[in-house]
Amino acid sequence: MESKEKKNIKGVRIRTMNYGMILAACILYVIVIVVTVHISMEYKRLSMAMEHYMECMKAGDLVTEGSDYLTTKVRLYAATADIKQAEDYFTELHVSRRREKGVEGLEGHQDDPEKHRYLELALEKSNELMEREIYSMKMVATAAGQDMDALPQEVRETELTEEDRRLSPDDMREKARDMVFGSAYQDARALIMSNISYFFENAVESARQEQIQSAQMLEKSLVRQRICISILFVLNIVTFFMVIILIVKPLQIYIRCIKEDKMLEIAGSYEFKYLALTYNDIYEVNIANEAMLRHKAEHDPLTGVINRGGFDQMSQLLKVQKSPMALLLIDVDKFKQVNDNYGHEMGDQVLKKVAGLLRDSFRSNDHVARLGGDEFAVIMVDGTPEQEDLIREKISHINSILKNPEEGCPEVSLSVGVAFSKAGFTDDLYRNSDSALYQVKEHGRCGCDFYRG
Ligand code: GH3
Ligand code: MG
Repeated sequence: MESKEKKNIKGVRIRTMNYGMILAACILYVIVIVVTVHISMEYKRLSMAMEHYMECMKAGDLVTEGSDYLTTKVRLYAATADIKQAEDYFTELHVSRRREKGVEGLEGHQDDPEKHRYLELALEKSNELMEREIYSMKMVATAAGQDMDALPQEVRETELTEEDRRLSPDDMREKARDMVFGSAYQDARALIMSNISYFFENAVESARQEQIQSAQMLEKSLVRQRICISILFVLNIVTFFMVIILIVKPLQIYIRCIKEDKMLEIAGSYEFKYLALTYNDIYEVNIANEAMLRHKAEHDPLTGVINRGGFDQMSQLLKVQKSPMALLLIDVDKFKQVNDNYGHEMGDQVLKKVAGLLRDSFRSNDHVARLGGDEFAVIMVDGTPEQEDLIREKISHINSILKNPEEGCPEVSLSVGVAFSKAGFTDDLYRNSDSALYQVKEHGRCGCDFYRG
């Protein structure tokens, strides 16, 4: 059953910490992945904006080049009446088609048609100017008396006004030149160029805006990524310290306690505290069992006093003592007869009684032992020959009690041999006491004798 102490354990559970850390790390990793995807999308958007900007520049250049080329060719034709110039003009118009190609190239990017409006306007204006240019060519060809079949179809099909037809070839040539060199033509050209210019400005501005927006978004995403990575770093450090506090430290403490054969200190996580309390419970039970076993090994089960083994151990320990001591060897007189006449059980009762009387008669720091059978011993710590009378009195008191037992109990007496040592339990002590005991037994029993050397 779980003890109250174990139920009241307070502490962080390793399992809870583990789940918490895993969850936090997963969330942060997902955020990092999302932010990284966002960064790559922003980068793609930025590079697409740059690509679009380049395409706008190319488209604007094509429209400019095409328009300039047409103007150059029409003017050359007006100046020289060289049919080759007119042919070049129409080759540009129908085959090269640089202006149309420029506008068509942007059609795939019609995300915001407003952005391309000025370029389309420039193309429209350029197309409007074409009528004037072809009319000028017709007048040049007519003034030069050129074969109309040799000229492109658009020129052939253009009809001059009645008024222009009546002009002299020189006037006609003059008017044709004025149509492509004059201020009206210049203004129309300027309008085309300013539309292309607006288009360029718009493209630059739009690319700049895209760039600023993307740069801002990128900066934000990078800041988020940096924060997440920093938190992950801190989380790693926290995990590292938590592992030290909750696992490594208590393990070190437990190993030290086990080496020193001590109860475990309650430390670390909930699990380690639980483990320590369980270990301590077992440790306490073991200590109690050990004490019980030791007590059993050293004590006589019948009388409860120290047995032969305990007496031998005790005498070994007392050998190093510097203080004087007395040893009393005690034997119950004619004990066999008690057993024979009253039975073994009564014999046991007598042995118990003798042990009890010895224990009660001597001090608590003296040691009473049953050496075997009906033989007892008392080690009197600090016992000196000055106490001979006292010892004699104690023995005669015990004997008087044993000789006057209760109804139905046997009458017994003790023979006691005593020897003294000046310092500690010497090797002679036992032999001398035994010799004194022998003397008592030889001289009538029931009494006490002291070894005199
Ligand atoms: P003596 O005066 O010469 O000592 O005579 P005794 O009859 O007492 O002789 P001894 O001391 O040699 O006899 C000891 C007897 O104690 C022998 C044995 O039967 C008995 N005895 C030994 N151990 C026990 C025991 O545990 N219980 C009982 N009831 N008797 C025991
Ligand atoms: Mg005896």
